Amino acid sequence: MVANTLGGSQLRGKIRPSRTYAAGRVCQRNSCSTKLSIYNRREHCNIHAPIKFPRVRGRIVPEV
Ligand SMILES: [Zn+2]
Repeated sequence: MVANTLGGSQLRGKIRPSRTYAAGRVCQRNSCSTKLSIYNRREHCNIHAPIKFPRVRGRIVPEV
C-alpha cells in the first residue's frame, strides 16, 4: 500500500543526486587529452583550468 506515504516521512529534506555531466569529455587544450570527470563542470583539466581569484574590492581595512 502506498496510499499513506505522504503522511510524514522519517527523512527530512530532499536527497539530491550528484549532478553529473557528459562522460568522455577531455580537456579543451589541444595538447592535452586528460579526461574530465563527469563531476567536473569545467572544460579543462585541473592543470589547465583557468584560475579565478575572487574579486577583491578596494576596501581599505582601517588600521587599529
Ligand atoms: Zn588539460
